[in-house]
Amino acid sequence: MTRPPFTPPTELEIAAVSRQLGRPARGVLGIAARCVCGEPTVVATSPRLEDGTPFPTLYYLTHPAATAAVSTLEANGEMSRLGALLEADEELRAAYLRAHESYLSDRNQIEVVAELDGISAGGMPSRVKCLHALVAHSLAVGPGINPIGDLALEAADWIPEVCECRDAADSGVARSSGVGGARPRGTGGEPTEART
Ligand SMILES: [Zn+2]
Repeated sequence: MTRPPFTPPTELEIAAVSRQLGRPARGVLGIAARCVCGEPTVVATSPRLEDGTPFPTLYYLTHPAATAAVSTLEANGEMSRLGALLEADEELRAAYLRAHESYLSDRNQIEVVAELDGISAGGMPSRVKCLHALVAHSLAVGPGINPIGDLALEAADWIPEVCECRDAADSGVARSSGVGGARPRGTGGEPTEART
């Protein structure tokens, strides 16, 4: 868990994030959360990219196994479930608003970007639009700050305490279901996806 100020990334860390994303990482400020093995899980990105583009998503989920698990949640309707919870629970709404404000505060510590005024990520403060952004926030700041990110992380078939990096590297792509090194997954075969 890391909040600003971030330790500037090493060349190796930028390369690791680029490998995870499958494209050159842009505007990397540092690694905001890591796998138990040290691989990046969440990257912190500059609020303004080098070409001047405003970039609201300070915390971005990069880990292939985590990203795949959260994509599965989204495909299974978790966003509408959490959205309904939010609608029904005033305290949850208040906590989610505080998460939004905390996100903006973290980002504004790095740089205040006028175009991003009041804009955080993932649908905050009132909607649930991207679980990847909300889970990334939870992983970066730790439990108890983003209640929706925390709930999504709980529901995901991935936990930060178990390394699945080798699985992801073996397949070369983010998969929607793993072959499970350390976690029981019910499949025993080798990955069949083509290497990239
Ligand atoms: Zn790992």
